[in-house]
Amino acid sequence: MSASAPAAPITQDVLTIPRKQDASALPNLVGMTRDQLTEALVNVGIKEKQVKMRHGQIWQWLYVKGVRSFDEMTNLSKDIRARLAENFQIARPEIVTKQVSSDGTRKYLLRIQGGHEVEAVYIPETDRGTLCISSQVGCTLTCSFCHTGTQKLVRNLTVAEIVGQILVARDDLDEWDLAPGDKRLVSNIVLMGMGEPLYNTDNVRDAMKIAMDDSGIALSRRRITLSTSGIVPEIYRVGEEIGCMLAISFHATTDDVRDKLVPINRKHKIDELLQACRDYPRLSNAERITFEYVMLKDVNDSDEDARRLVKLIEGIPAKINLIPFNPWPGAPYERSSNNRIHKFADIVNAAGYSSPIRKPRGEDIMAACGQLKSATERARKSRAQMERGIEGL
Ligand code: SAH
Ligand code: SF4
Repeated sequence: MSASAPAAPITQDVLTIPRKQDASALPNLVGMTRDQLTEALVNVGIKEKQVKMRHGQIWQWLYVKGVRSFDEMTNLSKDIRARLAENFQIARPEIVTKQVSSDGTRKYLLRIQGGHEVEAVYIPETDRGTLCISSQVGCTLTCSFCHTGTQKLVRNLTVAEIVGQILVARDDLDEWDLAPGDKRLVSNIVLMGMGEPLYNTDNVRDAMKIAMDDSGIALSRRRITLSTSGIVPEIYRVGEEIGCMLAISFHATTDDVRDKLVPINRKHKIDELLQACRDYPRLSNAERITFEYVMLKDVNDSDEDARRLVKLIEGIPAKINLIPFNPWPGAPYERSSNNRIHKFADIVNAAGYSSPIRKPRGEDIMAACGQLKSATERARKSRAQMERGIEGL
């Protein structure tokens, strides 16, 4: 071997380069709460005096600029960037498919860790853009009119996966680095996708805190609406710990009918649910509870139902969102006629409640309420099996 042979330096390099870690196994910076991020930075040796500043910078890169790599964090030294890259990842759900409806609605099928899939839907309107996000893969509840309810729960989404849906939509809409006063494309969030958010309250709370954080995504709590089938004790937590707007999947005016449509009603009856609504903090004309009411032909759509509904919610600042039933293959219900829906709406209106009829959006791509169901989970659990499942609640 000649004296100039590079053998020694190469051996040296090989010995000193740490074995490349599988980046996907590293902790994700997306979805860390502020406290967790501080701890993470301290743990990788960022000097105590610098932690606060670095924390602010990183938060901005993640949630204002929407960067996807550490290289783009140009106000951090190369050394810090390298240290971050060795120890963390910046990961979002991966878009498997994106469908754009003729009405502009975009439905994203997203792959998350473990190969599971969830859906998020972006609905543009003239005065706002609403992103409907999922909180679970599937749902353990088995509301009989809901397509998601036919899919068994696989797991709760993590904070990163919930926030990640917002990031993915903003990537796709190219909505980063907004100047103050810029019109927002994603101006509202509704937790009305797959899953029951209040069976995953902790993660939903932490994710919404990130979405509401003034130095990041900065959505006002009044632009976030959480929809629940009625997990009463958790509703109190939403009021205290998140403070966002509340929507209740009400759908029936007697316990008998609601037991069948929304089986969690067997555990938390209408009276108890409405008490939690009355106790919800900050209710006023400007902050009303939305009662969602799916219109099912000959099941819950009579004049009597409408009258009972307004009586039940008397005194609660509320708006009634009438949702024409969105059919799905094998669904055991039909949509009420337009006439019936309008007649119902008139009665509710006459009692002083706003009762908009929700226009189905994205129907041609199965993006409408209750139609979300990931392709991998189409195998249907039998109704009987699910009915048994609810007993354990
Ligand atoms: N699990 C939560 C949030 C997701 S469902 C909840 O139940 O509130 C979002 C809304 O869509 C709920 O009001 C739900 O009742 C409604 N929905 C479900 N299936 C539907 C369907 N097939 N047609 C119309 N609305 C439906
Ligand atoms: Fe679950 Fe909501 Fe569907 Fe009921 S309506 S099965 S709670 S997703």
